[in-house]
Amino acid sequence: MLTTTRVFNFSAGPAVLPLPVLEQVRDHLVSLPGVGMSILEVSHRSKAFEDILHETEADIRTVGRIPGHYKVLFLQGGASLQFAMVPMNLLPPGQTADYLVTGAWAEKAAKEAKRFGHVHVAATTQAEKFARIPEPADISLTKDAAYVHMTSNNTIFGTEWKALPDVGGLPLVGDTSSDMFSRPIDVSRHALIYAGAQKNLGPAGVTLVIIRDDMLERSANASAGLATMLSYKLHADNESLYNTPPVFAVYIMGLVMKWLLEAGGLESIGRVNERKAAKLYAEIDRSGFYRGHARPDSRSLMNITFRLPTEDLEKTFVKESTAAGFDGLKGHRSVGGLRASIYNAFPEEGVDALAGFMREFERKHG
Ligand SMILES: *Cc1c(COP(=O)(O)O)cnc(C)c1O
Repeated sequence: MLTTTRVFNFSAGPAVLPLPVLEQVRDHLVSLPGVGMSILEVSHRSKAFEDILHETEADIRTVGRIPGHYKVLFLQGGASLQFAMVPMNLLPPGQTADYLVTGAWAEKAAKEAKRFGHVHVAATTQAEKFARIPEPADISLTKDAAYVHMTSNNTIFGTEWKALPDVGGLPLVGDTSSDMFSRPIDVSRHALIYAGAQKNLGPAGVTLVIIRDDMLERSANASAGLATMLSYKLHADNESLYNTPPVFAVYIMGLVMKWLLEAGGLESIGRVNERKAAKLYAEIDRSGFYRGHARPDSRSLMNITFRLPTEDLEKTFVKESTAAGFDGLKGHRSVGGLRASIYNAFPEEGVDALAGFMREFERKHG
């Protein structure tokens, strides 16, 4: 019953979750096997939840091949709170933080960091409407920057770094909210990684933070001047249980990790994501009726942004696609046009259906 009433959900986030995960949540919602109560009722200090938390962390470590000298934290406040926590903890007075500004979220991260210290915009593609990722030659790093902040996938503009930027020995901080675990990730090249869960990892309410031990030392030095809840060190010392964590969101993230492992892990899902995205970009490139926003070498596998010949046609596309069972295709207001978000859990048959719809729409209106 559940399956037949589901639309194809192209939302940028919160976004589609794997159907087997939703079905398991439904089946176990009233009583977790072996526990006898709902996950929504369980104490965060109970053995049942501790087991869930530990297993979720272990699976995250397996999926991401996370080295032992990194801590995995489950925080709240979304990626947006990380825009503040990163500089509060990692930007000592008198030092500079470098920001690679590749889209609206990167801009917000840089703007927030300016409230706490000195920020240098080491590269920006704003003049080109963020249609591409900077080239190595566009990037001017501060020699002794406290860290370099990047946004791996630009959810709104539909661009994605194909390889990590070369930052020498500087600590690299990555906002990976919209492409976390969509392809292999080299954690060891980062000092800190953060991702709001609601795009690729689970429901809204939990933020995944992966932080290298030396950054925790930096956080310890900064912590005296911070509100308790804003210290990475505090959360690491308390294994994400200083206060009540988002129990339900962590539980679902754990199920999503199991689903990902069963699907073959990051190499495997990465290949599927390449194939799904290629199908939609092929439609965009086929005739010139559709125009992709991102430059081909910077195209995101997660958020496919495109325009039609006129805004009226774009409105018609949204209307007719909604009627055909496709939800969430309207582009972000800052770019206009259309955006198809096709995260890990987005089914390939939905991509095929949209490709078919695009061909048919062009035949009718082109
Ligand atoms: C969605 C998103 C955010 C904001 O996440 P919140 O959890 O709503 O704060 C930040 N960065 C990127 C890249 C995003 O896609």
